Amino acid sequence: MIAENLRAIQSRIDKAARDAGRDPSEVTLLAVSKTKPAAMVREAYAAGHRAFGENYAQELRDKAAELADLKDLQLHAIGPLQSNKAKYIAQSAAAFHALDRIGLAEELSKRCVALGRVLPCYLEVNLGGEAQKGGVMPEGLDALADATAQLPGIRLAGLMCIPPNLEEPEAARPYFVRLRTLRDGLRARHPSCAGLSMGMSGDFEVAIAEGATVVRVGSAIFGTRG
Ligand SMILES: *Cc1c(COP(=O)(O)O)cnc(C)c1O
Repeated sequence: MIAENLRAIQSRIDKAARDAGRDPSEVTLLAVSKTKPAAMVREAYAAGHRAFGENYAQELRDKAAELADLKDLQLHAIGPLQSNKAKYIAQSAAAFHALDRIGLAEELSKRCVALGRVLPCYLEVNLGGEAQKGGVMPEGLDALADATAQLPGIRLAGLMCIPPNLEEPEAARPYFVRLRTLRDGLRARHPSCAGLSMGMSGDFEVAIAEGATVVRVGSAIFGTRG
């Protein structure tokens, strides 16, 4: 079941990339396994998948421990993070996709330096102006990028967004275009800031058409969450 879902999503990704004149290998699929048991990650891994997304710091830490025998397993942290849990992400995450404030960046960098590693980070931008959601407001993005780029334990890998809940996948397109435009604007000063982490189960094809380099797909692979 999981193997089949992965194959189906991967072929939709490949098609969306080709339709956009892009090489499918430019798009990484993060299989979002939040709230699902480690056994399901193991099943996807057995089917050949390596990159996963987790929202909660402790859950990521626990899955990393349970799955430590799986070589090349990548657990990406994609959810909001409190600074006091930064250590779990520094220790166990392949990358962090929801960096939205300098205090958190400093804490992550300090932890990563102590561990002798550099953590790829995506800056999450709050494009819907939604107070209840994470993400730096677009007005604050330049300052956050400039400050983060100074930190030795972090590599600025790109931008991330979660558009407001929308009825139609097409309705997300303007948000994806906006994120790409913001990324293009930063790239001259910060060449490593090349990635676009955008697109979920309902809208990843639209995101790929607009330049996504990472799509985060959960329910379409592992089933709906309880
Ligand atoms: C849960 C989640 C996803 C996956 O959502 P689906 O709709 O299940 O594909 C992607 N990104 C983030 C940040 C999430 O929290």
